[in-house]
Amino acid sequence: MHLTNRILITGGAGFIGSHLCDRLLERGDEVLCVDNFFTGARSNVEHLIGHTRFELMRHDVTFPLFVETDQIYNMACPASPVHYQFDPVQTTKTSVHGAINMLGLAKRTKARILQASTSEVYGDPNIHPQTEDYWGHVNPIGPRSCYDEGKRCAETLFFDYHRQHQLDIKVARIFNTYGPRMHPNDGRVVSNFIVQALKGEDITLYGDGEQTRSFCYVDDLVDGLIALMDSPEGVTGPINLGNPGEFTIKELAEQVIDLTGSTSNMVHKPLPQDDPRQRQPDISRAADQLNWAPKVALRDGLTRTIAYFDGLLTRMG
Ligand code: NAD
Ligand code: UDP
Repeated sequence: MHLTNRILITGGAGFIGSHLCDRLLERGDEVLCVDNFFTGARSNVEHLIGHTRFELMRHDVTFPLFVETDQIYNMACPASPVHYQFDPVQTTKTSVHGAINMLGLAKRTKARILQASTSEVYGDPNIHPQTEDYWGHVNPIGPRSCYDEGKRCAETLFFDYHRQHQLDIKVARIFNTYGPRMHPNDGRVVSNFIVQALKGEDITLYGDGEQTRSFCYVDDLVDGLIALMDSPEGVTGPINLGNPGEFTIKELAEQVIDLTGSTSNMVHKPLPQDDPRQRQPDISRAADQLNWAPKVALRDGLTRTIAYFDGLLTRMG
């Protein structure tokens, strides 16, 4: 039997957070979704409004929050380069002040707390695939630094609260994740390519398109996050969560064109500064400690995501 937890999800109206809300409600938990709607949207959780175990609160995590909770998933932070570079100071504040506020809340309520960290802590990595013991290769003063260094500092805070205050922490390093409810204009590669293909617009490859990423379908990622949250207390992470299937950005474009039957052409645009050349998670730690591995192949996940955007674009006219 599953005992009901009171679960706080910051950034719960975002892409990944809203799927997490769905899954935790399905299994019987109480969910408090906290979001300032910077990149998230009420529409991502509108189907949950009125659910007896669901509550939605507008709040910015850079300010303290006083609620009662058993578990905290700290997901709040814009994740797309376009959005996190829009107001870089706020991005760092969200990661750093947000972590301090949520860790303080966890300390007072004795809640278990999980941080949505990122593969960006490895920067433009010199080792491949990336293992958790790699310290990374991050530019501290570039346009991506507000996100990368903010997330690195949040990890530092999590481990210091763990050592200093014995907090029960979990740190997930999430690799590129995609699926329904991504923002159609957030500039991330999967949403960009699908929207461009469905509209018959040019597919924009930044640089030569030979840089690689490993794409995880959101359902798999949510399974991994919940497995980590529910793991024994000694399992703190950091733990890589992602799909090790590695593709060049050009290969991704080709798959999207193929699956949509689009007539779009590929065009090249300048490569953004500090864009990592390669990224692939080593997920042996997640396999050993969580018994977790992703199940959805890129082609199947893309098919589901294309169906979502097709419906969305039709509704938007
Ligand atoms: P998203 O932008 O869809 O969701 C982030 C949510 O946080 C949004 O709802 C946004 O409104 C909210 N938010 C932002 N700043 C806030 C603040 N100050 N106070 C309260 N709410 C705030 O992005 P996502 O893809 O769902 O990412 C969720 C988390 O996972 C982020 O922390 C992100 O860094 C991490 N992550 C995501 C990926 C990915 O590929 N999607 C990869 C690595 C890490
Ligand atoms: N990219 C691209 N075309 C786009 C959007 C992104 O070629 O329209 C590239 C981007 O330069 C990067 C990769 O796709 O190399 C993934 O970009 P995204 O912004 O999705 O995430 P990142 O992993 O860089 O944070």
